[in-house]
Formats: sequence, C-alpha cells, structure tokens
Amino acid sequence: MSKQSPASSLDIELLRAEFPILSREIHSKPLVYLDSAASAQKPNAVIDAMKSAMEQSYANVHRGLHQLSNEATTAFEQARKTTAQFLNAASEDEIVFTSGGTDAFNLVSYAMGASEIGEGDEIILSIMEHHSNIVPWHLLRERKGAVLKWLDVSDDGEIDLDAYRAMFTSRTKLVAISHMSNVLGAPTPAKELSKIAHEYGAKILFDGCQAAVHGSVDVRDIDCDFYVVTGHKLYGPTGIGILYGKKSALDALPPFKGGGEMIDIVTTEGVTYNDPPHRFEAGTPPILESIGLGAALGWMQDKGVEAIEAHEAHLRDHVLEELTKLNFVRVFGRASNKAPIIAFSVDGAHPHDVSAILDRTGVAVRAGHHCAQPLMKRLGVSATSRASFAAYNTHEDVEALIAGLHKTHQMFG
Ligand SMILES: *Cc1c(COP(=O)(O)O)cnc(C)c1O
Repeated sequence: MSKQSPASSLDIELLRAEFPILSREIHSKPLVYLDSAASAQKPNAVIDAMKSAMEQSYANVHRGLHQLSNEATTAFEQARKTTAQFLNAASEDEIVFTSGGTDAFNLVSYAMGASEIGEGDEIILSIMEHHSNIVPWHLLRERKGAVLKWLDVSDDGEIDLDAYRAMFTSRTKLVAISHMSNVLGAPTPAKELSKIAHEYGAKILFDGCQAAVHGSVDVRDIDCDFYVVTGHKLYGPTGIGILYGKKSALDALPPFKGGGEMIDIVTTEGVTYNDPPHRFEAGTPPILESIGLGAALGWMQDKGVEAIEAHEAHLRDHVLEELTKLNFVRVFGRASNKAPIIAFSVDGAHPHDVSAILDRTGVAVRAGHHCAQPLMKRLGVSATSRASFAAYNTHEDVEALIAGLHKTHQMFG
C-alpha cells in the first residue's frame, strides 16, 4: 500500500533531486535516510550558497572597510533578518548567532546564573528534555545552588497544565522546556506554558530544536523570553544555532564569552560591552554557516513550511499504521499531532542490533538514549530505536523500514 500525499503540494521527487546525498547507495542499496532528527541532509540551495560565499564574497565581517568585507557583512546580517522573519521575531536584534543549540542553552544558563538566578532559586524542566537543555542547568545547580524541578509528561509526551501550574513558587525564576521532544515528537502547548510562567513572574525558554523543523514557529505569538533552534536539523550546516531572546530578556543578560566584537571600549583598566545581539557574539562569528542557515530557511519557506508539515503528517500516519500491524514492535509516543519522529523497540532485539540490520538494507535509523536519559528512565527502557522523517522522505521509505523490521524479527523473534 503506497499513499501518495494527496493533500501535499510538494513534488517529492523534484524536492529529493535537490539533495545530492539522497542518490547515494548504502551497502549497494538505495539510501533510506530516517535519521533527520539527529541531523538533516542539505539541499543544493545551502551547498551552493556556502560555496558561492567562499568563492565570491568571503572576508571577515564588520571590521573591514573594503568591498569584500562589506559584501560578507551584508550576507551575514541578511541571514539574521531571514532568521528573525522565520521565527517572527520583532527585530533582527533579537537573534543571536551561536555555535549550535547546545551553545545557546549554555549562554542563557551562564548569563542568567551571573545575574538573575542564585542559591535556592528554582528552574522548572520537563522530564523529556534533551541533555543539552538539562546539563547546563545542572551546572548552574552545582555552581550556584539553583534547584531543578522536574515536570512529568504522559507516555505520549503530553503535559498536564494543572500539574505544571502547581510547580511554581515565589522562587521560580525560569522554565526551560521542550517545544517538541526529540523522542516522542509531540509539540507542547507553548503559548499556555508561557502565559502561566509569566503569571508567576518567571521567564521561559523553549527548546525548539525539533519544533522549528516540523512546523511554523511564532515567538511573538508564543510570547516566550528565549527560543533555541539549531541549524543542522533545519537542513542547514553544522556549527550554527540561534538564540532568540525578547529584547528585554537579552538586555538583562550579561556577556557569556569575552572577545572581539562583543565589546564597546576596552582599556587596560576595564571594558564596556556592546548591545545585544553583538554582546553575545564574541570573536569571528560563524559567517559561512549563517549564510548556509539563511539559505536553508529560505529553502523551507520556498517549499512552504505548511506543505512540508502536511507531507510529514501523511508519512507519520502511514508509518504508525504499518507499525501497529507488527505485533513485535512497540511504539513510544502516539500523540495525534506529533511530528514523524518515531521511537520504537523490537521484541527480543537490542536497538543497536535493529539499527545494524536495518543499515544492511540501506535504512539509516538511530539507536540509543537519544540524549534523553531521564525520559528513557521515565519510559522504563535504557534505549530505543528511532526512525525520524523529513521533507524528503517518501512512502517507499516507510515500506523499506517495515520490510527491514520484518527481517529483524526473523532474526531475533
Ligand atoms: C539536537 C537537539 C539539541 C542540541 O542541538 P545541537 O545543535 O546538536 O547542540 C537540543 N534539543 C533537541 C530537542 C535536539 O533535538
């Protein structure tokens, strides 16, 4: 049975042709790439933009008063504008370029720890956070004596807003929470979470590393203080992430890293700092990577984030329907509005073995704890397999996964 995304306006074959790597073979089989939640493949739009920047317009940004530097600066700042527009930020000054998602969480953790969060102050996290939105807060707990409070989620990754509300006290300074789990794939009710946090005078930071890939994000509608995304999962390059910060929230933060570009005046006696976003961008920024990310976001807008979402919803329904027929497979997370991020286990087989067998059929899936050990513990497992789909996946990819799982079952069942 092969459904052909009737409601999708995307021509998937044409779209796939824009991704050179998808014509590769793996073990003499056509590549079926189902690991986009770990990192997405890159379209020609991104590859060409970075190549052309290096071939035609490359120099360091901001400092030079020569033509190439001006061109590079224009392209770099254009990427900031594209990102602001993608997230519907009020201004490009609310967009900080970081080296990745992880770097953005560390920035907020360090800077809030230096100014707003002290001993006994509370931070609310959910049990399904990615380690990169956990460990920086543990560092703050170790450094400052901050208290971490953990919000449980349902088996499908859904949040009980009453239980959430009950966690706030006068000491709650921050909520740091996923906008979509990288394991269960369910979006969280960002606007409601934000509203409640603000009622209690707390700030809220969203981990949007997955949510921004699978649906449109409007930081002004959510009304969050911080929102983090990472370039390499958004069809862009590695080495770049975005910290969105509401102007008032960024203005309140002291610097994280010191170096060039983030300063106003430096003397032998002291230093004054630049305004956001430059205050948080010490040293030469990820120039080529920002241009690549701008091209990736432009590519997504060109295809239509909603059209991508509709196509992915068909893939999700198809794969869940097929997996339900396999009585030797257990799926983790079945929220009706989830993204096509499918964690599962195969009876009697370790996730690493599942991965290895699927790999021999050309199917790439991830196995492990997915950087979410507290969630694994909550689900009562030490690891799972995970098949994650993106704009370029097809219904044939779903069928290849199912065929591979039958093979796995024959070997282990
Ligand atoms: C990948 C991911 C991160 C970390 O982003 P990096 O850019 O790889 O550091 C954080 N949170 C979630 C939900 C992710 O999927």
